[in-house]
Amino acid sequence: MPFPNTLNEKPKVIFFTDFDGTITMQDTNDYITDNHGFGLQQRRAGNKLILDGVDSFRDGFQKMIDSWKVSLTEMIAILEQNISLDPHFREFVLWAKEHKVPIIVLSSGMVPVIAALLNKLLGEDLMKDIEIIANEAEPIPPLNDLGKVKGWNIKFHDDSSFGHDKSLTIRPYANAIAAMPEEDSKPTLLYAGDGVSDLSAARETDLLFAKEGHDLIVYCEREGIPFTTFKDWSSILQETKEIWSGAKSVRNVAEEGLQRHRTNSMEMQRRPPTNVFNRKMSLSQEQRPTGIE
Ligand SMILES: [Mg+2]
Repeated sequence: MPFPNTLNEKPKVIFFTDFDGTITMQDTNDYITDNHGFGLQQRRAGNKLILDGVDSFRDGFQKMIDSWKVSLTEMIAILEQNISLDPHFREFVLWAKEHKVPIIVLSSGMVPVIAALLNKLLGEDLMKDIEIIANEAEPIPPLNDLGKVKGWNIKFHDDSSFGHDKSLTIRPYANAIAAMPEEDSKPTLLYAGDGVSDLSAARETDLLFAKEGHDLIVYCEREGIPFTTFKDWSSILQETKEIWSGAKSVRNVAEEGLQRHRTNSMEMQRRPPTNVFNRKMSLSQEQRPTGIE
């Protein structure tokens, strides 16, 4: 259901989520690049260029796609055989359906790939309520055929350096909610992600679930973005239930998440926390963030 219809249904929570590596156990684009493109080593080198700001996400991703030696049709068939869902995602979808919590997938991947995988792994009945906002795929000359190698290309969602700027979808919700009268119960916006493609979305919601052991956590700590960590969707479900019922505020969940993350980091590193871990997260901003950089 597109904006603003989703808001008109007056949900208590709206859940935005990344797809690759967040809903799925593996990143589909990395999988194709490693096995049917320029390979793991070159992909890692490319990722470093993106993280260092030398290459944009859009350009780095296009280089990966240019190296793929598969048609879109073949790519989908390969992924259907090799990609699995987080073991608890289905449970989350069932709970969300029952409690009228919309799930909106914001992805830097491509709609036909995501739709095919959700259909195969989740089933048509459950996937049809999930809104997917992502890049498209299009036939390109001279072959003009999604079923042929080099006959197709990605069609980016917008002109941003991300290819798909995820904040563009979330911000109208945030602005509309901020403009609601005080007496209205305002929906809480949540987001789950794991990596670089989620940076554009990280500032826009009330709380971000960042996957343990991934780059997004470092960014959130540095920027003072309220976050909590997750290993799989069972912890996301647990904490979303608590927020939905009012048992915990977003602030409680973020404070507990940060504490847990610091404890885990200290145990893992077996050395005193660095300045980054000592930094107090800025939760003083009661106002919903409205902009990104
Ligand atoms: Mg991801």
